[in-house]
Amino acid sequence: MGAETNGNLEFLSKIPEIKFTKLFINGEFVDSVSGKTFETIDPRTGEVIAGVAEGDKEDVDLAVKAARHAFDHGPWPRLPGTARRKILLKFADLIDEHAEELAALESIDAGKLFGWGKAVEIPGTAENVRYYAGAADKIHGETLKMSSAHQGYTLREPIGVVGHIIPWNFPSTMFLLKVSPALAAGCTMVVKPAEQTPLNALYFAHLAKLAGIPDGVLNVITGYGTTAGAAISSHMDIDKISFTGSTEVGRLILQAAATSNLKAVTLELGGKSPLIIFDDADVDQAAELALLGNLFNKGEICVAASRVFVQEGIYDQLVKKLAEKAKTWTVGDPFDPKVDKEQYDKVLSYIEHGKREGATLLTGGKPCGAKGYFIEPTVFTDVKDNMMIAKDEIFGPVMSLMKFKTVEEAIQRANATRYGLAAGVLTKDINVANTVSRSIRAGTIWINTYFAFDKDAPFGGYKMSGFGRDLGAQGLEQYLQVKSVVTPIYNSPW
Ligand code: NAD
Repeated sequence: MGAETNGNLEFLSKIPEIKFTKLFINGEFVDSVSGKTFETIDPRTGEVIAGVAEGDKEDVDLAVKAARHAFDHGPWPRLPGTARRKILLKFADLIDEHAEELAALESIDAGKLFGWGKAVEIPGTAENVRYYAGAADKIHGETLKMSSAHQGYTLREPIGVVGHIIPWNFPSTMFLLKVSPALAAGCTMVVKPAEQTPLNALYFAHLAKLAGIPDGVLNVITGYGTTAGAAISSHMDIDKISFTGSTEVGRLILQAAATSNLKAVTLELGGKSPLIIFDDADVDQAAELALLGNLFNKGEICVAASRVFVQEGIYDQLVKKLAEKAKTWTVGDPFDPKVDKEQYDKVLSYIEHGKREGATLLTGGKPCGAKGYFIEPTVFTDVKDNMMIAKDEIFGPVMSLMKFKTVEEAIQRANATRYGLAAGVLTKDINVANTVSRSIRAGTIWINTYFAFDKDAPFGGYKMSGFGRDLGAQGLEQYLQVKSVVTPIYNSPW
């Protein structure tokens, strides 16, 4: 397949060689039991990149068997933390060494900008591995005072065999966000990448083996959610599921955990995050952040600031500024509006709903480009809280602007959603910033910034955006469990 060029969009000059397309089980690349494969598509062109092994229940069983054996009998959970740290640091270095190839694969598989992947996303994933490598030898319990004549202490132990199920919007980041802390904790695992973006997960498995991660510790099953994914969430021998994806599928995962072995579950789900802009905010910065908050990664990001609440004194100025700035977007910067076919249809239908329900289309609203699935960055003004575009997660480049008067009103309306993933507050008044931060029911609040992700800052949802936290020290906790060890002390005055 040749490389495509399309207007002024950034495309790779060379399609990378696809080296890994089979399941990774017990340290080997193998065909699926059924021998079936599925096609992974380049969203830039709609063309097939490669046939990838289609894992199903039988393959999940084999992968879990390998992970179970590696956990119950293998060295990984039993190694001193310093040994796991050393291997993980090597893994991180290998990721850096292969950043160009990984970024190229992500570009064709997920429609990501190559330059951004190479300079930012892939090095970021390597740093994530290093962060948790540094934690691997610092997993300590506590000594307990005890109210009876006993000596007591806690151990923090790896939770066991983990199933990771991840989405397509940030395939590499998501893979290592989950796999790194689980590896540091001493867990073994089966990872199912999204069917739309299977390639980098297999490449990471190859690098993990090169780094010295023992066979059976990290297994990757490519395939569909309703088959391979469902087999993982209902498996009797998996101890924990860490899922990132839609709220609908999160509910299915929780049900499957409940009706199988009551495995522990962490859910990172959808969002409809508010960005609240007060009258005293800098209008230029507010427009930039509102655009960034809605268009970064084509709006395909769980924390998209898709509800922009604007105080009445700055509303008209901001609308004017947004209209100006929207025109200056050039495709090829991080506001690339490519989406995949299914998303493309969904986003266009939301745009139609927005128009029908009476919102004013300030800019965008149409498909663009002759090939591939492209949508113009779209801004609606005069949006009412009960319109579909203000309530549902669209997962596309569509911003809704809503006017408000008071701090109390902004808090009440921002909270009037079933989601609670993130929120932004733009104001120079520290008291307003603090009041709003404490009052918004969401897992992350950004004040005078947006998308300020950091390895140290735990990330996760309130309400129907899920529970549990990725990143930071808490990201490690989800792969550990606490054991109390108690022994009597005889003839002691204590
Ligand atoms: P999705 O829920 O459709 O799929 C996510 C994963 O679940 C995929 O690997 C899929 O194959 C699998 N899956 C699907 N059906 C399944 C089933 N019945 N059983 C088990 N697994 C199943 O989500 P998506 O479309 O890939 O990603 C977009 C969604 O992810 C959005 O809602 C977005 O908000 C959310 N997301 C959340 C976060 C977060 O951290 N909160 C981050 C990124 C994306």
